Amino acid sequence: MSQSQPRVGRPALASWLSTGNSITQQFMAIGGQADFVSLAGGLPAAELYPVEAMAAAQERALTRWGSAILEYGPIEGLPALRAAVAERVSAASGRRFGPENVLLTTGAMQGLDLVGKLLVDPGELIVSQFPTYLGALDAWRPRAPRYEKLDWSLQAPGQDAALRQAKFVYAVPNYSNPTGVLVSQEERAALLDKVLAAGTWLLEDDPYLPLQFDGPAGPGILAHHAQRQPNGAYDGPVIYLGTLSKSLAPGLRVGWIVAEASLIAALALVKQSTDIASSLLTQALALEMIESDFEAQHVPKIVATYRERRDVLCAAASEHLSDWFEWEVPPGGMFVWMRAKTPEIDTDALYAHALQEKVAFVPSSVFDPDGALKSAMRVNFTRSAPEVLTEGVRRLARATRRQLEA
Ligand code: PMP
Repeated sequence: MSQSQPRVGRPALASWLSTGNSITQQFMAIGGQADFVSLAGGLPAAELYPVEAMAAAQERALTRWGSAILEYGPIEGLPALRAAVAERVSAASGRRFGPENVLLTTGAMQGLDLVGKLLVDPGELIVSQFPTYLGALDAWRPRAPRYEKLDWSLQAPGQDAALRQAKFVYAVPNYSNPTGVLVSQEERAALLDKVLAAGTWLLEDDPYLPLQFDGPAGPGILAHHAQRQPNGAYDGPVIYLGTLSKSLAPGLRVGWIVAEASLIAALALVKQSTDIASSLLTQALALEMIESDFEAQHVPKIVATYRERRDVLCAAASEHLSDWFEWEVPPGGMFVWMRAKTPEIDTDALYAHALQEKVAFVPSSVFDPDGALKSAMRVNFTRSAPEVLTEGVRRLARATRRQLEA
């Protein structure tokens, strides 16, 4: 997939640009081949996309708003949807957030981009949990940041100093991508203490919130802070990212940033020069799906399907992969993070064998800014039907045997 490098004069981006085709695009594309089992993409089950309900909602939206939703929108987003998001976040956190605290974005992905653009100059520090979301690393690559690993125990040497220097801390406390880990309430509160003491920002990225399989996730870090500052205009350190990509459909491209009003205004300026405005049409459609209560009724259905798929994948892995890998059953989200038990397994090398067996996963190296982590793989269970998951795991076992014999 390699190609010659364009003349952009950015040594820090050289290896990224030379791939010519982003790793994410490669993983998305790979699923299209016949008889191929892709456990790579972080994709929902396509058969659960609510096509008919969306068609009806689109009709209602166009009747309700007419040509107004075919204009460039207000940069902050459709006011009624901003208000609905403010209400949702207020209910989840027990304090008032208003529309002034909400910027609607083109997916949570745009939130990551805008925060990087606003806050990070080249060479500045981001403290992040690792392994971490590849899309965030890609969003910030043009900013050329430095990274320090967030240690959730907060005991690592140098952690306090790193937090003081950091432009922001990046965390996915609910069912992280790629590990599926649910961060404990104690760890959330302790991180918030440290962030407040260090005077930095905390970027809480929460796309997997709706996908809770084994009981509630509990309050997010924004809610923790709201409990400490229950009244008045919100002026805390948390910048919260939400999305409808998991509860409804990623193709809507509707997400949001919730933060203090002055930061929202600054992010809106940055957004304006990025895309003028997100699509009002899909925001109006999203509003219908929320107001009609469709989203709330839909989530339990997808959760039931995904829980079953998670269990099928983990059962198949116990049967076929447990000699070589270990994992925790994720209590939510979309992924099982499988860690090699033996140093002979290198998941970059395993990936090539997996492609020959017509199965794909995402190797751990892409979730690490240095590409050095080669001992684990991310396996998606939401996209494929149970029998496909089982077949995919059998193929992974064959690929592992091949890598070990190579
Ligand atoms: N953050 C994380 C951790 C993700 O895994 C994803 C993609 N699923 C996103 C953000 C981007 O989501 P969206 O579709 O809302 O842009």
